[in-house]
Amino acid sequence: MKLLDAPQPAEVAPPYPDHVLLTPGPTPIHPRALRALTRPMLGHMDPEVFKLNRAIQADLREMYGTEPEAFTALLAGTGSLGMEAGFANLVEKGDEVLVCANGSFGRRMAEMAARYGAKVRLVTAPLGEPINPSDVADHLGDAAMVAVVHGETSTGVLNPVPEIAELVRHSGALLTVDAVTTAGMEPFSMQQWGVDYAYTGAQKCLSAPPGLAPVAISERAFARFAARRHPTPLWYCDFEGLRDYWVEHTYHHTVPVNLHFAFAEALRAALEEGLPERRERVRWMGRAITEALAPLGFSPYVKREEARLPTVLALRLPEHLDDAGVRAELRRREISITGGLGPTAGVIWRLGLMGEAAHPAPYRALMVALEDILG
Ligand code: PLP
Repeated sequence: MKLLDAPQPAEVAPPYPDHVLLTPGPTPIHPRALRALTRPMLGHMDPEVFKLNRAIQADLREMYGTEPEAFTALLAGTGSLGMEAGFANLVEKGDEVLVCANGSFGRRMAEMAARYGAKVRLVTAPLGEPINPSDVADHLGDAAMVAVVHGETSTGVLNPVPEIAELVRHSGALLTVDAVTTAGMEPFSMQQWGVDYAYTGAQKCLSAPPGLAPVAISERAFARFAARRHPTPLWYCDFEGLRDYWVEHTYHHTVPVNLHFAFAEALRAALEEGLPERRERVRWMGRAITEALAPLGFSPYVKREEARLPTVLALRLPEHLDDAGVRAELRRREISITGGLGPTAGVIWRLGLMGEAAHPAPYRALMVALEDILG
């Protein structure tokens, strides 16, 4: 058989309509990341991929504001894998873990920590309110780890991570921070605050495709990992295995190379724009949307302004609004927004302002559609 005569599938143009994606993740893919996805595949052990990985690690150190020696990497999974890897590597059976749980993702942290054998204690707050740092101080005891979600996506609350970190810093406990809705859009100062382990999801503030969890691990956390009594029960994300691949360049598992291509571009674009500039962009957009939606009866769900998560705008619905019906009509018009989660279902809408969602054009499309549907 002649190789050159082998049958070729016909190329078909994808029939996808334009879509306005304004959910709290995933976010619209950054054009640079989208182009990078079409790059021809390279092997995961290719020297050029290792070079790209080193650039990603350096950019992640900048995004997370780490100490120069901190280890950064991409895990081949979503934000939840970043969460799970922290507990799997840094917690051992019987360790006390204090989890700040004022929403769905804080509760997910507590569940994961318990599955890895931790004795979990919770610090909670009323729905729609941030964790009170003095409650953390009161419950610190001899916790081996404190875990907190920076931006609680389920309610649109920003937890006071720098204040909590200040309390944890001298206690000997490690501090794990879920930076899924903040890192890459808000300045994040891992070294200055004293954070030991942070993670996000590629599809959130950086507008890369889903499937990667960028993590940062402090030297202190790595030392705690190295002193484990038993091997980490999660082989796939064992910190040592990660280091083998990312630093020693030995095979551990096949990383999703094309996602690395796209992620590297999205992260570079974010740093070139500047984290302070992105922070300003998201705040400006949040104010403008809140003002524009006020005449239709929407109001901020989180009462205290400083406790509002800028990247996920949580708006209380006007009375008598047909929540599911209006969102279904928007979806019919190729606009996606998200309602509440759990106890906030039917009470709020959550509008995504992460990465490429935080621009006026898509929100103008939402306003025009809403005025037509509700007006
Ligand atoms: N943590 C927070 C704060 C989130 O918002 C999410 C997802 O929305 C996750 C963790 C889980 O991330 P993923 O869905 O990428 O696994």
